[in-house]
Amino acid sequence: MNLKSLNFKRFNLKNLQPQRLPPNTLPIWRDLVKDLRLCLVLLIIAAVIGLLSHALWPCLVIALVLFIGLQFRAFYQIYYWIRFQPEQNPPELSGVLGEILYLLYRYQRQEKQAKTELINTIARAQTSISALQDAVVLIDSKQHLEWWNPAAEQVLGLKAVDVQRPVLNIIRDPEFAHYFENLHDYPNGIKLDSWVKPQHFIQCEVTPFGDHEFLLLAYDITHLHRLEQMRKDFVANVSHELRTPLTVISGYLEMLGEQQDVSARWQRAFKQMQQQTRRMNALVNDLLLLSRLENEELTNKDQVIHMASLLNELFDDAQAYNSDYGHTLNLHIESHCNLLGSKLEIASAFSNLITNAIKYTPKGGVIHIGWSSDQEHGYFYVEDNGIGIEAYHIPRLTERFYRVDSARSRDSGGTGLGLAIVKHVLAQHEGYLDIQSKIGQGTTFKAVFAQSRLVE
Ligand code: ADP
Repeated sequence: MNLKSLNFKRFNLKNLQPQRLPPNTLPIWRDLVKDLRLCLVLLIIAAVIGLLSHALWPCLVIALVLFIGLQFRAFYQIYYWIRFQPEQNPPELSGVLGEILYLLYRYQRQEKQAKTELINTIARAQTSISALQDAVVLIDSKQHLEWWNPAAEQVLGLKAVDVQRPVLNIIRDPEFAHYFENLHDYPNGIKLDSWVKPQHFIQCEVTPFGDHEFLLLAYDITHLHRLEQMRKDFVANVSHELRTPLTVISGYLEMLGEQQDVSARWQRAFKQMQQQTRRMNALVNDLLLLSRLENEELTNKDQVIHMASLLNELFDDAQAYNSDYGHTLNLHIESHCNLLGSKLEIASAFSNLITNAIKYTPKGGVIHIGWSSDQEHGYFYVEDNGIGIEAYHIPRLTERFYRVDSARSRDSGGTGLGLAIVKHVLAQHEGYLDIQSKIGQGTTFKAVFAQSRLVE
């Protein structure tokens, strides 16, 4: 059983509120009349006896005292019941006090019923959570471990003695500590190497709730991790294996294309074959680059990249690529900060953004390429006045092979992997991609880097 399979609708606590009495179920005046009637009867009897015995006033006073005494007796019975016998049925009383006692009793019964249901619900919820294979841990506002289910002992290695100890003293992984202290930076939780079982991986998700309390969910994702690794290895191996045959084919095609004694029809065919092998080559290279980025191969991510010279180099390449398109290209270097990162990867990401802007802007457009910074971030931006992108495409643009217009992308020689590469490169440099676009007016792609990546 996992957390998603629990039907929390069954634990609807709203149903457990004691119901209020409808406002018109209090015919208190009827009980008042009953009390007055009793008083009147006592007075009449007293008056008769008084008249017969020639002691009218003393008899009336005695009758009144008797009536008040009866009321006091009823008060005492109520007090006695509340104080000493609240579990038993209330005394039978009539009049206003009887009605008040009845309402009190009814309310007490409803409260009791709601409490029993609440206890049952909590017990049921606890039993279900205990049956989960996912670890569930409650952390109190002082960040101490408060409660956990049995699975937490297996997944996170918690022991009974850990209760009320600080969570960060028990889960000592520095990555977890960073995650716990910066929850907003990790909207999807964090994947960690298991400290309980070697070669295993766990996914942790902490959700704040209530009064600065936290719910920690953790589950074993070793199986998923292995499948993901298999996929990455498969793509990397296939791309690698395709490289050699492609090089051979394109070599022969080039040779054949240069032959003079080949008919014009075959020349055209060779040219097309060359074009397609170039596309396949680009695809294989992009796939290999993505695999390398995904496997987080150890490239030095702390080189100081001199931004002015990198941007000038990229600008020169862009000018050359732009010769077929005739756009006006502008370069703006507005910050003297440099960037810490892998020059090769950053250059490849920026160049993807620039070539896209050139490709997806109708001839004669204007493109601004720039580097700026403020107190918190560094920004590399490419702004075009091209075709623009509809808002609903934007969240999916960095998916592999996601294209807004497949035909246009293929015609322009795109592999559909460019923005996926950009996203990975930025993620590995503590950055992210911001995309603003208006259909028919143009698009701005902005690579945003954290201050920690900037050097003066
Ligand atoms: P491709 O190789 O197809 O260009 P990308 O991953 O680089 O693949 O881009 C994904 C899609 O995003 C493209 O197919 C294109 O539809 C859209 N796109 C990228 N850049 C721009 C841009 N500057 N203007 C309009 N659309 C763009």
